[in-house]
Amino acid sequence: MNSKDIVYVNGAFVPRSEARVSVEDRGFVFGDGVYEVLRAINGRLFASKFHNERLKRSLDGVRISLTGNDSPEHLTEIGRQLLRENDLLQGEAMVYMQVTRGSATRAHNFPPPNVPPTVYVSVVRFIPYTELAQSGAAAISHPDLRWGRCDLKTLNLLPNVLASQAAKERGAFEAMLIRDGVVTEGAKTNFFGVVDGSLRTHPCDNHILPGITRSVLRDLAREVSIDLEETPIRADEIPRLSELFLTGTTTDVMPVVKLDDKPVGKGMPGELTRKLQRVLAESLASGD
Ligand code: PLP
Repeated sequence: MNSKDIVYVNGAFVPRSEARVSVEDRGFVFGDGVYEVLRAINGRLFASKFHNERLKRSLDGVRISLTGNDSPEHLTEIGRQLLRENDLLQGEAMVYMQVTRGSATRAHNFPPPNVPPTVYVSVVRFIPYTELAQSGAAAISHPDLRWGRCDLKTLNLLPNVLASQAAKERGAFEAMLIRDGVVTEGAKTNFFGVVDGSLRTHPCDNHILPGITRSVLRDLAREVSIDLEETPIRADEIPRLSELFLTGTTTDVMPVVKLDDKPVGKGMPGELTRKLQRVLAESLASGD
């Protein structure tokens, strides 16, 4: 929380404690909505173009239309305004944007087209996981119980919530989700692993979120001549992993040094992980 704590809801800038949505909001009743999370560094939004594209894709994917002049770009602009309003132009902050299918009497099918979506944008101070990123984190494996459109960033996060809690209860930072014998991604991150010397990550399909950090890192890896194969890692290959790391807007590159209580590789962050950690940090410091 910050001293002013102003958020944006449906066209108005209001104190967070006074922000209201209806109990009939379809986000509340059905989880019927989509969201985005962006990283702000000294007031600059990292990779905002990619986040806007993904928000548009998520909205199209669940058939929610923004009304009037609203657009992902406009919501990003509101995020920038909130950073100014909340004195978050210095240091690290996080912008959260959410759009639901609006508020209407409960019925599973869509409300009439004149029901406007509910739009919410909020900013909060963010503290990067600097120490954990040095030592490396623990993870657990967990069944991937999600639906068939994990490529859309929707509010339906119950399987992710349960997997995250299972990780927390075992003292781990993340749950690696396993579907049909393949590691898809983390509950809140994508992942990269080194098997038999090759860096691999799950290809972008309907079983993973196309992470912005994942795609930024894929491009950065190419720039520094690190080969990357977009080939899934099978659960039975886990014992052969020599390096493993997670990626996400608020996670950066997070080494995983222990998986299900067993060391990954030598039990410390590997060489490729360290290199990619560095190139992402440089990109975050300079890119936009
Ligand atoms: N995968 C899932 C399931 C996520 O929830 C997230 C981020 O919230 C990611 C991957 C990482 O995506 P990004 O790098 O865009 O933050």
